[in-house]
Amino acid sequence: MNKLIYLFAFCFIIIGCKNKEELQSTITKKPTEKDSIPTQVNEFAIAIHGGAGTILRENMSPEKEAAYIAKLEEAIRIGHNILKNGGSSLDAVEKTINILEDSPLFNAGKGAVFTNAGTNELDASIMDGKTLNAGASAGTKTVRNPINLARAVMEKSPHVMLSGFGAETFAQEQDLKIVDSSYFYTENRYQSLKSVKDYESKKQAEDKTAFYDPIIKDSKFGTVGCVALDKNGNLAAGTSTGGMTNKRWGRIGDAPIIGAGTYANNNTCAVSSTGWGEFFIRAMVAYDISALMDYKGVTLQEAAKEVIQKKVPELGGDGGIIAVDKHGNITMEFNTAGMYRASMNDKGELYVGIYKN
Ligand code: ASP
Repeated sequence: MNKLIYLFAFCFIIIGCKNKEELQSTITKKPTEKDSIPTQVNEFAIAIHGGAGTILRENMSPEKEAAYIAKLEEAIRIGHNILKNGGSSLDAVEKTINILEDSPLFNAGKGAVFTNAGTNELDASIMDGKTLNAGASAGTKTVRNPINLARAVMEKSPHVMLSGFGAETFAQEQDLKIVDSSYFYTENRYQSLKSVKDYESKKQAEDKTAFYDPIIKDSKFGTVGCVALDKNGNLAAGTSTGGMTNKRWGRIGDAPIIGAGTYANNNTCAVSSTGWGEFFIRAMVAYDISALMDYKGVTLQEAAKEVIQKKVPELGGDGGIIAVDKHGNITMEFNTAGMYRASMNDKGELYVGIYKN
């Protein structure tokens, strides 16, 4: 008799279930797919950085602060408009970075820092989270907007990374804006090179008057970057820099290295880094954040914290990142005194920050 009751109950469940999936969920009481989908925070979103470093309120004049804020806002609004009008995250990243590259305020394009030899050698990279295609250029001296070159490498060449003279030849073939190398001369960047050299030679001579001031420390930083999520759910990231003041021997930092300075994957997030490149390369910062999300299922915020507040400082490096995940969550994490940064969401809410708090 008992057996008969069980049989009836079982048949009742089977008939009551419309399909196999429903039956499965009734038996196992697993959460339905709907329950486990995290909500989309923003349909589209964008974030930018203009470098991290010893950026302290007490060292900043009101005019300088206002100039940085205005340029960050101008740049992010360009990208935000593209996204709002249904444009691609790649276009938003490229066009936003162009504004920062054309400004002497940042260590990218026009405001690039000087090498030990008194030249300007620029690096950039871009990545498409949808296809995992990527492009990068390193050590160029005559390409006005290296982020455009990085994108051309990605879209118009069979390669991922071009360097030096070859990269410049390719840029010419692609009709990109070529400038005389004197275009990159700015007086304050040249003075930074002089102070760093002066400090280094005094240090070598064990001269006690060698003074390591924050300006010298800051000469490592000032890169620009942008990450974006578009209305089609595609993520993109880009980074552009002049590298580090006084760099030698064709030194290349993290900015043009996919996985270190830039990474984007539609399954996880888009990241752009800024900081002491040698450490960001060794920590594979941008990819590591994506991999933590991918393999460990942690949030973007948790992954960024782990890498920027633990992994990089434990190696001895400093800097920060901006990132956006596939749900439109934005994170701007740094372990330095400040990071020039801005973000905008799909409601048009703008945030601009320079210092820690
Ligand atoms: N990461 C850059 C580099 O090492 C510098 C920076 O971010 O300012 O070349």
